[in-house]
Amino acid sequence: MNEILIKNCDALSFTNGKAEVLPKQDILIRINKIEAVGQSGSLDFNPDAEVIDASGMLAVPGFINTHAHTPMVLFRNLAEDVSQKDWFNEYIWPMESNLTDEDVYWGMMLGMAEMIENGVTSVADHYFAVDQIAKAVESTGMRANLVWAVFGHQGEEKLDETIEFIQQWQGGANGRITTWMGPHAPYTCPPEFLKLAAKKAAENDVGIHIHVSETENQVVLSLKEHGITPVQMLKETGVLDVPTILAHTLHPREVDYPILAAADTGIPQAPRTYMKHGDGLAPILKYRELSIPVGLATDGAASNNTMDIMEQMRLLAMFVKYYASDPTIMPLEEVADITFRGSAKVFRYDGKLGEIKAGMLADIALIRQDGVHMAPKSNPLSALVYCARATDVDTVLCDGKVLMRGRKLLTMDKEEIKREVQSRLGRLSQRVPNNRIAFYPT
Ligand SMILES: [Zn+2]
Repeated sequence: MNEILIKNCDALSFTNGKAEVLPKQDILIRINKIEAVGQSGSLDFNPDAEVIDASGMLAVPGFINTHAHTPMVLFRNLAEDVSQKDWFNEYIWPMESNLTDEDVYWGMMLGMAEMIENGVTSVADHYFAVDQIAKAVESTGMRANLVWAVFGHQGEEKLDETIEFIQQWQGGANGRITTWMGPHAPYTCPPEFLKLAAKKAAENDVGIHIHVSETENQVVLSLKEHGITPVQMLKETGVLDVPTILAHTLHPREVDYPILAAADTGIPQAPRTYMKHGDGLAPILKYRELSIPVGLATDGAASNNTMDIMEQMRLLAMFVKYYASDPTIMPLEEVADITFRGSAKVFRYDGKLGEIKAGMLADIALIRQDGVHMAPKSNPLSALVYCARATDVDTVLCDGKVLMRGRKLLTMDKEEIKREVQSRLGRLSQRVPNNRIAFYPT
C-alpha cells in the first residue's frame, strides 16, 4: 500500500475552527488521503512507507488559486502602467489573438511550475484551448477546475464546443480535474447569451466561473445599458441558479448583497491585481458576515505578475486593514481561514481540501522556517502570514504524490519549459492594430 509519513513537522491546524500551529506532528498519507495526524512518533505506519523528514518545517494545506488564467504567464511584464481599457484593448486581447494551442500548453506548464514552487496545488483556471491545459494538468499532478472562456460574439456553437470539453474531461486525471462553463463576463456576454450558458450548465449539471463587477465603471455601464447591476444580470439570466465562482465582485451595490448571500457561490480575491490596476477592494468583511465564501487568487500574471498565493494572503490582510484604517480587523486566524478553508469552499472542495486532518485529500506544502527573515521563532502563524516567502516552500504533495522535494520539481523540466516559452515570445508579443479577440467597452 502506498504510504508516506511526513514526520516531525509543525502543522497548521483548525482544531475547534480556529487556526493554530501545532508543534512536532506526524502526518500519515495513504494513497491520496491523509490517514492520520498526531504527535510525532505516535502514529502506526507501514515499514515500507516513504518517510519525509520535515523537522523545522511548517506543514500547511496546499494553497488554492481560485481564479487564474495561468497561461497568461506568457504575457508577464508586457502590459505595465496602462489603464484597464488599454490593458485589454491595446495589449492583452491583441496579443492573445496570436495564441496557438501549443502556446497555451507551454504557458500552462510555466505557470504550474511557478505555482508548485509556491506551494499551490489547486487552480481554478479560466482560459482558451483548455483541452491543452487539461493535458498539462494531467501530466504535472496538480488539481484543477477548468473552464473554457467564451465571449458572447462567439455564439452558441462555441458554447457547445466547451460542453464537449466538459464531457471529455470531467473527473479526468484520476479525479483531479473538474470542469465547468466559463462565459467571460456580463460586459462581454449579452443577456441572451448568459441565459443560454446558464441553461446548458444546468442541463450538464456543472457550474459557471465568470468575471463580475471588476470595476466601478462596469457597474455604471450595466446600469446605464440594462438598468440593473452585473450581479442582478446574473440572477435574471439564471446564471446564479447553478453553482458559481464570481471572480472579483469588487463593486456590489446594496441590492446585490441578498442575491449573493442566497446564491451557491464563492468570490476569489486577487489583491495585488486590484492594487496595480487601481480597482479598489471588495467588501470582504461584509461577504464574510453574510457567509459568502471568499478565497484567494492571482488572476493572470499579465496583471498580477506572479502566481504567488502567499503574497495575496498578506496583501489581502494589509489591504483590508489599510482601507478600514483599523489594524485590529482581519487577524491572523481569519487570514488563515480565508487562505485555506475559504479558498477550498470557493474551489468546491469544502471538507476535502483546506485542512490537514484525517480524511482530507493529501495536498500539502512544507515550508522551511529557518530563514533569517523568519527568526526568531516566536509566533509561527504570524511568520506564515507576514514573513514566509514562496521560496521557503520546500516540498509539495498533491493527491498524495510528491510534486516537489527539496525545491526540485519532480514532474516537469523547468529549463525546457522556460526555453519553450522564451522561443515563442517574439511572435506572441506582436500587436496588430484592430486585431483583438474581444473589445473592452468603456
Ligand atoms: Zn480574471
